Amino acid sequence: MRDISDLRQRQALPLGAKVLMSQNRIREWYEHFNGDVYISFSGGKDSTVLAHIVHDVYPDVPMVFANTGLEYPEIQSFAKKMGAEFVRPKMMFSDVLSKYGYPIISKEVSTSIAEARPINTKSTFRREEFQGKRLNQKTGEICPFQKTKWLPLCRDTQFRISDRCCSVMKKSPIRQYESKTHRKPFIGTLTDESRLRELAWIKNGCNAFDKKKPSSQPLSFWKEQDVLKYIKDNGIEIASVYGEILSTDKDGYQYEAMLGIECELKCSGCQRTGCIFCGFGSHLDKDNVTRWQKLSKTHPKQYEYCMGGGQWVENPDYDPTAPKMIGEWQNWNPKKIWVPSKKGLGMKKVFDDCNQIYGKDFIRYE
Ligand code: SF4
Repeated sequence: MRDISDLRQRQALPLGAKVLMSQNRIREWYEHFNGDVYISFSGGKDSTVLAHIVHDVYPDVPMVFANTGLEYPEIQSFAKKMGAEFVRPKMMFSDVLSKYGYPIISKEVSTSIAEARPINTKSTFRREEFQGKRLNQKTGEICPFQKTKWLPLCRDTQFRISDRCCSVMKKSPIRQYESKTHRKPFIGTLTDESRLRELAWIKNGCNAFDKKKPSSQPLSFWKEQDVLKYIKDNGIEIASVYGEILSTDKDGYQYEAMLGIECELKCSGCQRTGCIFCGFGSHLDKDNVTRWQKLSKTHPKQYEYCMGGGQWVENPDYDPTAPKMIGEWQNWNPKKIWVPSKKGLGMKKVFDDCNQIYGKDFIRYE
């Protein structure tokens, strides 16, 4: 049985050992499925490194890019240049936000909010998480992972919040590709980035053969610094939106060579790519210039579309007969809700409302 110390041990290995270990996971996956595999290619640096390592061993593995239309234009061009096959979602992003909700804070928090809010929800344990009363099902003790901090966000805001966006915009077109080709994916995610991914690794390891949707994450135990070092050491081309990879000391000074100074590698452009308009993790961005502030300078049109627009509409789920409270739980039952409009996604209001609850610098976007 794996535990978190196994993951920490692997994360502490030198890069060369990690590459060998990843190659082994890749071979196991490829052989298990007789070569019916593909690389889920996001155009980002992690999946570029993954593609490089997979193609070193098996040059013919195809790459598939879910073109949500939410990526930086440079990422789309890069995916095209790399020869990835493009698959597309059936819904537009603005419709996803209207129908399901804005992806903000994290997948974990937005899922809990989406499940706790409906008046007749069966997920009462989600409400208990917000109230600090969730119990560990095995021991019956209070579980340490409560979401009390996010209760005001769940209770007091008038826009939908959910994590459904990824499934509609990315997973669903990819699933269609998989059911058409019967290929199984290599995915370039690192556990370094989220607690949910760490838990998934403890449960399934890098190659999740037994999952309902089997997938291989051969870089799971890599850290962002490993990815950047691998790119530098191997002279791999990455999407131009990242800029150059520079060595930076703790005071932010940049060095071309290490010169014996303790340095971290950092991209001079975007640190992460992904969907431009995604709200996930915005509150964690504590850089001097946040990614939203950078976007306003580098891609002003996209920034305007994201922050601007928005409108109030009748809430189709409003129930005039619902009680205000169920026990200590205040029902989420606004008459009107905030959704995107033709002019833009209306994210400014979403961020302003979050900042009103959690402080003015909670999400810095201007
Ligand atoms: S990363 Fe964010 S914006 Fe992109 S599909 Fe997932 S939830 Fe939506």
